[in-house]
Amino acid sequence: MEQVEAGFAELGLRAELLAALTNLGYEEPTPIQREAIPPLVEGNDLVGQAATGTGKTAAFALPLLQTLTARRREPEPVALVLVPTRELAEQVSQAVHRYGRDLGVRVLPVYGGQPIGRQLQALGRGVDVVVGTPGRVLDHIDRGTLQLGDVRTVVLDEADEMLDMGFADDIEAILAETPETRQTVLFSATMPPRIDSIARRHLREPVRITMGREPVAPGDLPLVRQSAYIVARPYRAAALGRILDVEAPSAAIVFCRTREEVDQVTETLNGRGYRAEALHGGMSQDQRDRTMGRLRAGTTELLVATDVAARGLDVEQLTHVINFNVPVAPEAYVHRIGRVGRAGREGCAITLAEPREQRMLKAIERLTGQRITLEKLPTVTDLRARRLELTRASLLASLEADDLERYRVVLDSLTGEFDVENIALAAVKLLHEAAGGDDDEEEIPTPAPPRERSPRNSRDRDRPPVRSSRGSSSDEGVARLFFGIGRRVGLRPQDLVGAIAGESGLSAREIGAIQITDRFSLVEVPESAADMVIEAMQRSFIRGRRPSVRRERFSR
Ligand code: AMP
Repeated sequence: MEQVEAGFAELGLRAELLAALTNLGYEEPTPIQREAIPPLVEGNDLVGQAATGTGKTAAFALPLLQTLTARRREPEPVALVLVPTRELAEQVSQAVHRYGRDLGVRVLPVYGGQPIGRQLQALGRGVDVVVGTPGRVLDHIDRGTLQLGDVRTVVLDEADEMLDMGFADDIEAILAETPETRQTVLFSATMPPRIDSIARRHLREPVRITMGREPVAPGDLPLVRQSAYIVARPYRAAALGRILDVEAPSAAIVFCRTREEVDQVTETLNGRGYRAEALHGGMSQDQRDRTMGRLRAGTTELLVATDVAARGLDVEQLTHVINFNVPVAPEAYVHRIGRVGRAGREGCAITLAEPREQRMLKAIERLTGQRITLEKLPTVTDLRARRLELTRASLLASLEADDLERYRVVLDSLTGEFDVENIALAAVKLLHEAAGGDDDEEEIPTPAPPRERSPRNSRDRDRPPVRSSRGSSSDEGVARLFFGIGRRVGLRPQDLVGAIAGESGLSAREIGAIQITDRFSLVEVPESAADMVIEAMQRSFIRGRRPSVRRERFSR
């Protein structure tokens, strides 16, 4: 634990931030954090090449918070983060909020599509950090509702994507409103010349950071089958359970990013009937040794661990390494999969990735020079077939064991009345059900493939673009759809987003406000996509039900 905090403490972060990180279960900085945080804390400008999944948000958010006066009262923001999408605005804003909770940070996401009234009120009350999409931020500047005169730091996050979306002029206009003395930070997954030109014009002698450059020697890589599944975040735990059911590993390690995640995943797997144990840096050496002993003895079949906890761990019999999310650096991936396929034995490395993290998989492939095959998640039908197969295998083992005579009295007492075949079927059913049977499984939606981006030039850029068979423009209205399903059945917004995105091909960022009541829900989608979504939802299950979906009767 002390060693854990030392990792971030060495980067010079203040106590309130270290406490927040420990709370979140972050055990050590990711490579990008290790490299970016010290120069940022010293006030340097910085250009970082890093994709989603590397921990880049904390890399810029922690330094922003480092110099923030705790419980500051001044109304104008001291930091501005520009991001390409509303989804990212919310994510980054939540991250800043979580890291800065002990400092009482006031952070506000601003993006198009959200009622401006709420943003105006929040701005009026005063904010420390604004996280916004360029179009909406510029709207606020034009209205005089956002003053950037006190801004000390500007972050351009996912800069390549912002340029692709046609935000270049807006970014220039926004930067012109901020003091020249500001610190400017730019993160981008790719570094095309246009990004370089922005960096040259707006950043002062920036520190440059690039991740994942050292290729791995082929001899350092184990002999393993490498595959990945693309799953939207809300379905990751369910997907993991399903993959494990089909793979049926005899001893596996599941890697998670944080201690919190380790605990959640362990609980989920135990709930599914696995003997899973957590292994993280918060545990004493003694506790860890005992857990390892149980794995070696076969009492535990799954270990759920963070990188730090699994360091130095040597288990001969591991057959599978499973990454619950893409590791924060390609090097960590190589490290993890090195734990299987030892001494020429076969092993499997399986990675769950969110749609946005596919870029990280590519980076790993470049580093290792090996392919990671994208697989389709087992469907409910696959799962049922696999379970029947396992039942059959158990029966076969029992038939071969030849110790069946003592059960003959039961059989004999039934054969007078029933057909032997039916008795056999009833016995198979009982065995199958005792092994878990066909528990109610829900289909996990396949995320839509990433959309082609096209530059947009209209002024109203924050409005989500629309995929439509009728080819409408992006400057159009929003339709509200009624879904006959609500909180009563435990419905959560992510269930709706997952179902809509999975069935209709609309991307999550094209889905607007969601309101969930006890019995029904209302979801905003682009008007031009409304009919297509309604049609797609006729085929879809949400939390095991097929709700009625239609336009809201009272919509404007
Ligand atoms: P990002 O690349 O910023 O989108 O972050 C990817 C994910 O990694 C987020 O879910 C973070 O909460 C998580 N994360 C970031 N830094 C760390 C860290 N040092 N340890 C564990 N998880 C982290």
